Amino acid sequence: MARHRVKGSLVDVIDRVDLDRKKAVTAVVAAGALIGAGFTQALATVTPVDRIVPVAATKNLAAAMTAQPDLGPQTIHSLDTGAETRKLLQAEQIQAQFHVREALKAAEGAYTQRQEAAKAAEGARIQRQEAAKAEAARIAAEEEAKKPKCVRPAEGSFTSGFGARWGTSHNGVDIANAIGTPIVAAMDGTVVEAGPASGFGLWVRIQHADGTITVYGHMNTIDVPQGAQVKAGQQIATIGNRGESTGPHLHFEVWAAGSQKINPVGWLAERGVSL
Ligand SMILES: [Zn+2]
Repeated sequence: MARHRVKGSLVDVIDRVDLDRKKAVTAVVAAGALIGAGFTQALATVTPVDRIVPVAATKNLAAAMTAQPDLGPQTIHSLDTGAETRKLLQAEQIQAQFHVREALKAAEGAYTQRQEAAKAAEGARIQRQEAAKAEAARIAAEEEAKKPKCVRPAEGSFTSGFGARWGTSHNGVDIANAIGTPIVAAMDGTVVEAGPASGFGLWVRIQHADGTITVYGHMNTIDVPQGAQVKAGQQIATIGNRGESTGPHLHFEVWAAGSQKINPVGWLAERGVSL
């Protein structure tokens, strides 16, 4: 594109130089005519060049043009406007090249600007995404924190499940371990009962925030008084063999809504605890 332009300009230069030469010759011919007509004084006031030598004492432009070699050094020197034109055109060309460069620079600038804008938009999108992720994580953590903490009430062997057993209903689960093994509160709550109970020997009943009651039986010792506020994992008693028991173990029950005996395995599993 640029190369074509330069080529075009060169052709223009040649054309215009020729044109200027024609003009120069015309001027000389005209000057000669004026001198011939006796207007020498008038010419001197018109042009700063005071030593113009007429090409020919004729008005024949074609003849004057073909007689170019006869122009003489002074005339060529004083009327070589072609050189000026070439300079001007060169300057114009430089100017044009400058404008092209400027235009290219501007276009490049605009492109870079669009790139930067796209980059910024992408950055903002990632930032929003990260913020959303962080918010989701925060909410999840909050939900997790809101969930009541639940723990396994005693370490030991799971020896008996919930349900029918020996022609009767076993209302809890048994975890066997040595006498004196700690028994802990499964969840935060209030000790609503701590003392002797039929069949249990001794029991502790803890009521939790949602109304559920957890029951602990056959213990050797009770370590919390009735009415105490306990935390999940806090020791409340130790494993014993009191009441209707066939060996040292914890008998653990869950009373939904404070009265409905449900399978502790499922209840614990829902809270992330396996027996
Ligand atoms: Zn039992």
